[in-house]
Amino acid sequence: MSKFVLIGSGLAGGLLAAYLGRRGHEVDLYERRADPREGNIVGGRSINLAISTRGIHALKQIGIADETLQNAIPMRGRMIHDKSGVLHFAPYDVDPKKCINSIGRAALNSTVIEAAQRHSNVRVHFNHKCTGVDLASAVACLETVKGTITAEGDAVIGVDGAFSAVRKSMQNAIAEFKYDESYLAHGYKELTIPPRPDGSWQMEKNALHIWPRKSFMMIALPNPDGSFTCTLFWEFEGPRSFGTIQTDDDVHRFFDEEFPDAVPLMPTLLEDFRNNPTGSLVTIRCAPWFYRDKVCLVGDAAHAVVPFYGQGMNAAFEDCVVLDECLEENHGNRERAFAEYFRRRKENADALADLAIGNFIEMRDKTASKMFRAKKKLDHALEAALPGIYLPLYAMVTFTRIPYSAAARRARLQDRILYAAVIGLLVIGIVTVAMFLGRS
Ligand SMILES: Cc1cc2nc3c(=O)[nH]c(=O)nc-3n(C[C@H](O)[C@H](O)[C@H](O)COP(=O)(O)OP(=O)(O)OC[C@H]3O[C@@H](n4cnc5c(N)ncnc54)[C@H](O)[C@@H]3O)c2cc1C
Repeated sequence: MSKFVLIGSGLAGGLLAAYLGRRGHEVDLYERRADPREGNIVGGRSINLAISTRGIHALKQIGIADETLQNAIPMRGRMIHDKSGVLHFAPYDVDPKKCINSIGRAALNSTVIEAAQRHSNVRVHFNHKCTGVDLASAVACLETVKGTITAEGDAVIGVDGAFSAVRKSMQNAIAEFKYDESYLAHGYKELTIPPRPDGSWQMEKNALHIWPRKSFMMIALPNPDGSFTCTLFWEFEGPRSFGTIQTDDDVHRFFDEEFPDAVPLMPTLLEDFRNNPTGSLVTIRCAPWFYRDKVCLVGDAAHAVVPFYGQGMNAAFEDCVVLDECLEENHGNRERAFAEYFRRRKENADALADLAIGNFIEMRDKTASKMFRAKKKLDHALEAALPGIYLPLYAMVTFTRIPYSAAARRARLQDRILYAAVIGLLVIGIVTVAMFLGRS
């Protein structure tokens, strides 16, 4: 058995501690924030998230899927709001039972930490901020209110999110470490649609609402208390952007023009807009994700992606499953386990990063078009007609555990066959008409 020092008890940190604890490893989990169960809401990130098949599978493996999903709200498709307030519902799948689930980040974070703490060999230390790691000795430096301490393990695992201190130490110490970060020109701001006075939802609750406006969009996910959390994704700069909104009137004018059906449902729009931070959206790629048998990266620390496929946390949870498998398969050889984990996950994380950026364009622009809706209907018709043979990309990513890179490849092949078939049918049609006209 090994002794692991985990840095970061966010979504993946808590879950990984539970996985390692279950196997009998000694785990010390250090988190810079206070205990989320004491009401410190995880600031600066989305209040709710969509969890789907990959994330649910990871929770199932340690027996906490049912308790987690009790507080989730199934979303069966996208509810598209056009500017005139007309709604179009586009189901996610031909099977109405297939859905994604809106879940509160704070509640999910608490659930995974509690699952970890059920193992007496897992200890969680809040208010411990990692400032760096000595890779060769697997020693982490931690700032606490009482001063600086060190924590030594057989290995340190960085589960400390997109701006990982563990990854930073690897960057500083490993000459050939590759690192790339790229920011979108868009930022995001969270806003609220409160419940009706009787506690019910003001819009369809079992849907992910989208107001697609070509270069920007707003989305809304339901919460169990009857509210919706809306997120506006908008350019930081430009003629119409976060940067040009100066006054309350500017806010009102923009929302009245772009989201007229949402405005009457948002009584705290001005306060929310003024008080809530504007977040940035980053994609981070790096390599390698490990150093010998001493250090490893998991979740956003290894591969932060933009949120438009609703997969960042799902992928981070899938990392935990794969790392657990690799440690078991390579029992006694942690370096081989880390290397195998990196080999299995890296191309999938890269594929997801590309898919997530592609889906931003789909959500903010294409979902509004009739052509897009027709393609979705064709996708579903083909899926029903060719079960197990044709699977739309969204379904593969969201409702299966097919590796992301394989899903992307298969979708490209399917599209090529489909376009070739359509062109073939057109040619046959034209030739038939030409022959018919030639004869008459
Ligand atoms: C707007 C938005 C919407 C999203 N929606 C979805 C969605 O619908 N579905 C989905 O699957 N994903 C979604 N994501 C992505 C998801 O939030 C992340 O992929 C997920 O949180 C990654 O989990 P993690 O544990 O790796 O990192 P985090 O959740 O960021 O956790 C990292 C933890 O490490 C701690 N930490 C950081 N630095 C230190 C340090 N130096 N010392 C000690 N502790 C430290 C942090 O306090 C935090 O608790 C969304 C992201 C954003 C920004």
